[in-house]
Amino acid sequence: MKSGKQRREEIKARRLVRLSAARASNPSIPTKSVPLGGVAVDLAQLAHNTTWSALPSFYIDTPFVCKDCGGHEIWTAKQQKWWYEIAKGRIETRAVRCRPCRLLERARVEEARRVSQAGLALKMEKKNNEN
Ligand SMILES: [Zn+2]
Repeated sequence: MKSGKQRREEIKARRLVRLSAARASNPSIPTKSVPLGGVAVDLAQLAHNTTWSALPSFYIDTPFVCKDCGGHEIWTAKQQKWWYEIAKGRIETRAVRCRPCRLLERARVEEARRVSQAGLALKMEKKNNEN
């Protein structure tokens, strides 16, 4: 009688044989590291991350809810690759806003910065006039 472990290993081996046979006849079947619809990670481009946790081996379309409007959005694998590898976003960061809300938020922050700097300039001017 075979042990459960032996049995599992036999099943695993048969599965691998079946998968490699299927891949040979259909090259569009992705390898284990990158599932269908996924985009491979270029680890060299993620070197800016200092993390103890394992880096991903692929990106895949990820649904999320916009924190401002509550809209249901998809953060695509391609957008993730751009964010982490080109824009050098940190690996812990995730998409939180849809595109329209992101543009609104950027405009809001820029306006707040402009007002703050104008106020600061005015304060400095007053201070200089007092002396
Ligand atoms: Zn939104």
